[in-house]
Amino acid sequence: MKPVCTLSKKEKKKAYNDKYHAANKDKAVVYREKNKEKLKAYHASYYARNRERILSARADNRELNPEHEREVTSNWRKNNPEKLRESKIRYRVKHKEQIRDHQKEYYESNKEKILAQTSKYAKDNADWVKETYKAWREKNAERMKEHRAAYYQANKERIQAQHREYRERNREEYLAHGRAYYSDNREVLSAKFAAYRAEHSEQAKEYSAEWRKNNQERVRILRHNYESRKKTNGGTLSKDIVSRLMSRQKGKCPICKVDLKVTGNHLDHIIPLKLGGLHEDRNMQLTCPRCNCRKQAKHPINFMQEMGYLL
Ligand SMILES: [Zn+2]
Repeated sequence: MKPVCTLSKKEKKKAYNDKYHAANKDKAVVYREKNKEKLKAYHASYYARNRERILSARADNRELNPEHEREVTSNWRKNNPEKLRESKIRYRVKHKEQIRDHQKEYYESNKEKILAQTSKYAKDNADWVKETYKAWREKNAERMKEHRAAYYQANKERIQAQHREYRERNREEYLAHGRAYYSDNREVLSAKFAAYRAEHSEQAKEYSAEWRKNNQERVRILRHNYESRKKTNGGTLSKDIVSRLMSRQKGKCPICKVDLKVTGNHLDHIIPLKLGGLHEDRNMQLTCPRCNCRKQAKHPINFMQEMGYLL
C-alpha cells in the first residue's frame, strides 16, 4: 500500500528548502563572502525601508521571549568586543554631562556606602594603595606642584586669613612650638640664618635699614635693652612701652609738664640703673630731653628737690 503523505504543501516546500540549504551550506558561505558589499548595502536599504516594522517586531519579541533576547545580546557582546568598546566610548562622549550628573547624584545619595566601601578597600589593600599612590605622586610631582601653587594663588587671601586666625586661636601653643623648635634646632637654624644673611647681605642691610626707619620706637627699646643688659643683670621693656607711657602721662613730661609731642621724648629710668633701678616697665617714664639730661643718674627724690619740688 502506498503511504499516505501527511505533510501540507507548505511544509513540503520548507522541508525541501532546508534540505537544499544543508546540502549547499558551503556554497552559501562562498556566495556571501563574494558578495559581502552588495549584501550589506541590500540589508541596509531593507532595514531603512522597514525600520519601524523591524523595531516593533524586535520589541514584541523582547517582550515575548526575554530569555532569547538576552541570549542574543550576550552572544553579540561576546563576539564583538571591539564594537562594544567603541559603542561604549561613543555613548560616553555623547552623554558626558548626563553621566557626570548621574554619578554626582549617585555619589550624593550613596555617600556613606561609597566611603565605607572605599575605606574598606583601602584598608584591605593598604600596601597596594600606598604603592600606587606613591607612584602616582612621583609621576605627577610637577603637576601637583603646579596645582598647589595655582590653588594657593587663587585662594591666597582666604588661606592667609585662615593661618592668621589659627595662629591667633592657638597663640600660646604656636609660640611654645616655635620656641621649642628653635631651641631644639638652635645651631642648625643659626647656621642657616647666618648663611642666608651672608648670601643676601645687601638685601639684609636694606631690609634692616628700612625696618629701623619704620620701627623707630622699637629700635629705641632694643637699644635700651641692649645697653641695659650690658650694665645690669637683665630685664627687658615691653615693645609698646613708649605709647603706653605716652597715654598714661597724657603726653606730658612728668617733671616740667611740657608737651612731649613738641619737645620729643627720652625714655628715663625713674630710679637710675646706676643706683640699682631695674630695667623694666614699672621703672620707666618719658621725659623731655632737657629734663632727662639734667636728671642723669640722680635719684628722683634728690633731683626733684634740687628742682625746687617738695616731695
Ligand atoms: Zn621736662
